[in-house]
Amino acid sequence: MVKKTLFKNVDTIVTMNLNRDEIKNGYVLVEDNVIKEVGKDGGKQFDTDLVIDCKDKIMLPGFINTHHHLYQSLFRNVPPVQNAKLFDWLTHLYELWKNIDSEAIYVSSIVAISEMMASGVTTTSDMLYLYPKGTKGIFDAEVAGARHTGIRFFPCRGSMSLDRDNGGLPPRKVVQTEEEILTDSERVIKQYHDSSKYSMLRIALAPCSPFSVSEDLMIKTAKLADKYNLLIHTHLAETKDEELYCLDKVGLTPVKYMEKLGWLRNNVWFAHAVWLNTEDIEKFDKNGVGISHCPTSNMRLGSGIAPIVDMMEKSGIRISLGVDGSASNDTGNMLEEIRNTLLLQRVKYGADVITPRDVLYFATMGGARVLKIGDYTGSIEEGKAADLILFDMNKLEFAGGLSDPVAALVMCDNKKVDLSMINGKIIVEDGELLDSSLPAFINMHNRISTRLITNNM
Ligand SMILES: [Zn+2]
Repeated sequence: MVKKTLFKNVDTIVTMNLNRDEIKNGYVLVEDNVIKEVGKDGGKQFDTDLVIDCKDKIMLPGFINTHHHLYQSLFRNVPPVQNAKLFDWLTHLYELWKNIDSEAIYVSSIVAISEMMASGVTTTSDMLYLYPKGTKGIFDAEVAGARHTGIRFFPCRGSMSLDRDNGGLPPRKVVQTEEEILTDSERVIKQYHDSSKYSMLRIALAPCSPFSVSEDLMIKTAKLADKYNLLIHTHLAETKDEELYCLDKVGLTPVKYMEKLGWLRNNVWFAHAVWLNTEDIEKFDKNGVGISHCPTSNMRLGSGIAPIVDMMEKSGIRISLGVDGSASNDTGNMLEEIRNTLLLQRVKYGADVITPRDVLYFATMGGARVLKIGDYTGSIEEGKAADLILFDMNKLEFAGGLSDPVAALVMCDNKKVDLSMINGKIIVEDGELLDSSLPAFINMHNRISTRLITNNM
């Protein structure tokens, strides 16, 4: 039996289709998990199971977050590194992270994803690179946590193979051998990767960064990804220190190092990409790489401002947004990321080069293009998955800003989504997450967080 849901009387539908059409007074008909019809509401009658009146509401495709470390919600606002730069921040936190286990991963995944859902995220990626010696089921716990929430999930099997004794940054307890990494990567691909249309889970492979894995592992990871037609992901050019590290260790800048390893290619996306020169951007353009821009994390760690506006001018570069881990953001709020993208780019380039609609595109279709799921997500069109979010414009924070309600979503203090549907299922209603088990998980989360932080400070 097909379940039909009609969203009617929508003030504006921001479709993010090829023409970026915005439909005033529109309707959307959803059948099971798929958008069946989109149009102008002319009183057409439908035989439906559920009708949702969307007066004064703006509808967008659900947001797609392309970079995160879900477990880091356990390590927010840790006093000794509240004011630290990336390498000091990492060196301190590795000592806390090395005591993580599968229960901590499961609970933090639920909490971190729920927070994102409240801000309109319907698809998220995650890079999980922490597999402390003696622990089991880490990756599987994350998948179980994500499945509990109902998010469309794009987890990356992350990795770290270079410990301090071998020129890397992480301690020995959290690195794995290359054989362990590649064997487990293949296991999770076989167990979880679903390449079908409307897939709720696709795997990518993600060596953590140039300073935590070997050259050999980068090359072998890309090869394994090719075998299964997967995407690959890593952190790149996040800080000036990373550039100095690469120059010192391999005699190349981060982008030139990626070029040498064969990592400048169409199935790659890089998180951050802050420290780039004109030649780097041209290389990204020529090779069609994807970018996950994480402005809040970049500001929090004082890493720098990514040259997003310069990259926007290159049609070969696909741009998306990421909240990054909560230990370097302290929230998982996608609305904040969208607004910060606009504001921070204006600091670098001026106010007249990037618009609210540009950044909403990065957060929707931009993300779908980076994760290569644009054939079924990222826009509101017939045949796409029913990943839809609604914002109620009758709120204090939008008062006086409604001469352009779509831009108000970015320019004003947008606090949370009013309704979210993921794959045809309503997850947020009247501004509240419907998962009744969430308070218990928040409680568990805080107990685990206290144990991991206070026992190790
Ligand atoms: Zn990151």
